[in-house]
Amino acid sequence: MSQKVCKWYPVCPLKFYYEQGRLDEKWIKNYCMGDWECCIRYQMEERGELHPDYMLPNGEVREELA
Ligand code: SF4
Repeated sequence: MSQKVCKWYPVCPLKFYYEQGRLDEKWIKNYCMGDWECCIRYQMEERGELHPDYMLPNGEVREELA
């Protein structure tokens, strides 16, 4: 059984964007508290691959978050 919240959540930049009111809650609900295994950020993190802080769980890059 997988855990409910993504293990990277406490240190994920998307958590901080969300807390700053700059990121729609759907990302947190659908990925961080849901299907985190489907998150591109999560998958890249697991492979040790670099990815920008402002990349969304679906791989979309939102430079305005930077
Ligand atoms: S954005 Fe992805 S890596 Fe970050 S906490 Fe959410 S599910 Fe995990």
